[in-house]
Amino acid sequence: MGLKIDALTCTACMACELACGYHRDDAFALLSSCIVPYRAREKKNYIGVILKEEDSLIAARPEGTEISRIGQEQDPDKEADASAKPMLLRESCDLCEDLDDGPLCIRFCPVNAISME
Ligand code: SF4
Ligand code: SF4
Repeated sequence: MGLKIDALTCTACMACELACGYHRDDAFALLSSCIVPYRAREKKNYIGVILKEEDSLIAARPEGTEISRIGQEQDPDKEADASAKPMLLRESCDLCEDLDDGPLCIRFCPVNAISME
């Protein structure tokens, strides 16, 4: 079981990032969040969401979802995603297991772009 993110629906409002930071630190600590939306500068209206799980980084993009195993050697010809580096230092998604009402990011996403699968 894990999170499923629909990047085509996401509006990059950052509510999930704030909610996750709050879940971690009881404060709006963005650097503690394990879910991060981003916009690509070079492409207008291009929005993706990166999620850190226990052993992988999930990049949900408009063209599809990419899963990178943490610790696995990356393709040297592939350009590194700058936003992925600080993600590796963060705690992994725990699906808000201590909350009775389920994941905060799902509850706060205004467009229902996040779901459980
Ligand atoms: S389920 Fe909880 S820990 Fe996982 S990304 Fe959402 S808010 Fe963060
Ligand atoms: S809360 Fe939903 S719409 Fe907002 S950035 Fe996160 S996934 Fe995207």
